[in-house]
Amino acid sequence: MLAQPARPWLKSRAMSLVDSRRARPTEDPIFALNSEANARRAKGEAVVNATLGAAMNDDGSLAILPTAIRALREVDDVTTAVYAPIAGTSAFLAAVQDDMIGSVPALRSRSVAVATPGGTGALHHAIVNFLEPGQSMLTTSFYWGPYHTLTDETGRGLATFSLFDAKGAFDVAALDRAVGELLATQGRVLVALNDPCHNPTGYSMRQEEWRAVAECLTAHAKAGGTVTLLVDAAYIEYAGNPEPRAVLQELVPLAEHAQVLFAWSASKSFTMYGLRVGALIAVVADDKLRAVTQAALTYSCRGTWSNCNHAGLAAITRLIADPGYSAQLGTERDALKQLLFSRVTRFNELGHAAGLSYPRYEGGFFVTVFHPNAKEQAARMRETGVFVVPAAGALRVALCSVPERDVPRLVEALSLS
Ligand code: PLP
Repeated sequence: MLAQPARPWLKSRAMSLVDSRRARPTEDPIFALNSEANARRAKGEAVVNATLGAAMNDDGSLAILPTAIRALREVDDVTTAVYAPIAGTSAFLAAVQDDMIGSVPALRSRSVAVATPGGTGALHHAIVNFLEPGQSMLTTSFYWGPYHTLTDETGRGLATFSLFDAKGAFDVAALDRAVGELLATQGRVLVALNDPCHNPTGYSMRQEEWRAVAECLTAHAKAGGTVTLLVDAAYIEYAGNPEPRAVLQELVPLAEHAQVLFAWSASKSFTMYGLRVGALIAVVADDKLRAVTQAALTYSCRGTWSNCNHAGLAAITRLIADPGYSAQLGTERDALKQLLFSRVTRFNELGHAAGLSYPRYEGGFFVTVFHPNAKEQAARMRETGVFVVPAAGALRVALCSVPERDVPRLVEALSLS
């Protein structure tokens, strides 16, 4: 990571910023690496930039689904200008619930939702509504950095369990232990799992792994624990599995005893990162509690961002609910998926041949290569013009932004010693 500059003024009495907020990092490390890569590229260097989580075409331009732009442009003036309802329009809420869990009536018939600015907003609402201040969210040992930022910013903590067991599969035993410990210390647990195409490892859980997770959480809930599962499905449209929603069936028994939440995001699925459209979907078995949950989530909307981008909600609703738009968008998204899969296939061919150590990788925006000296390795790679993001014991590779022709150079740099 890039070093933070010394900031002697942090102790100044003239500063009214509260103590706990004085030592915030000045620049997001991933964006800093991306800026350096772009600056070097602008000077003519042949740079491979595998830092940022946005899908890029092979020519380096942002991959955009044209029908999504068309739907946005077609939103009428009044809809664009007027406030959206605080929880989001009812058409949007129905569309995202149908999109996420419509294939499983036992979940869909018991769900409520609110619109949020991206999946990030959904994560925020899950944290503040399903954990008390001071309690910790539980997630995997590798996780998307903002999980920490979001819990820290909201006065909560973040606890982790080992993602992989000795065989490289999802470590359900570690989850079980961690859930038990948190239930013992804080009486409730909020487990956040980003699947499929986990950021940063690229791992997608198999159906039987989901079954084991659901059984584990159901057992804790039946034993009296207050259990909430948050499925962060930001990358669901890019899974190697052509039926990524098939695993939802495994959550039906869990939803009888525990709270099941979904963080839904339009950012990657519609390549609409800047539109800031997402939703938190909550499956609540009890009718009365469902209404209470809806009220709590809506109150959180009012108390944080008030309401979401109305034009964004309208465009995304049309893209999901209008069969013509949805079919056209699906065709464009399939082409993008094929582009990403061709990179994944090439990476797997070369990466395995080079002996790189990384989890099963079948699709998605990222993969993580394990490395004992990740920081030093990333710096070495940077010298050769190849940019990846170092973390503890691993290098995050955003294959979504690397053309297939650059994969050999990427793998070669990852294998540098
Ligand atoms: N969850 C994960 C794991 C992500 O990587 C992202 C985006 O990078 C998100 C959620 C949410 O993104 P957004 O707020 O743009 O929808």
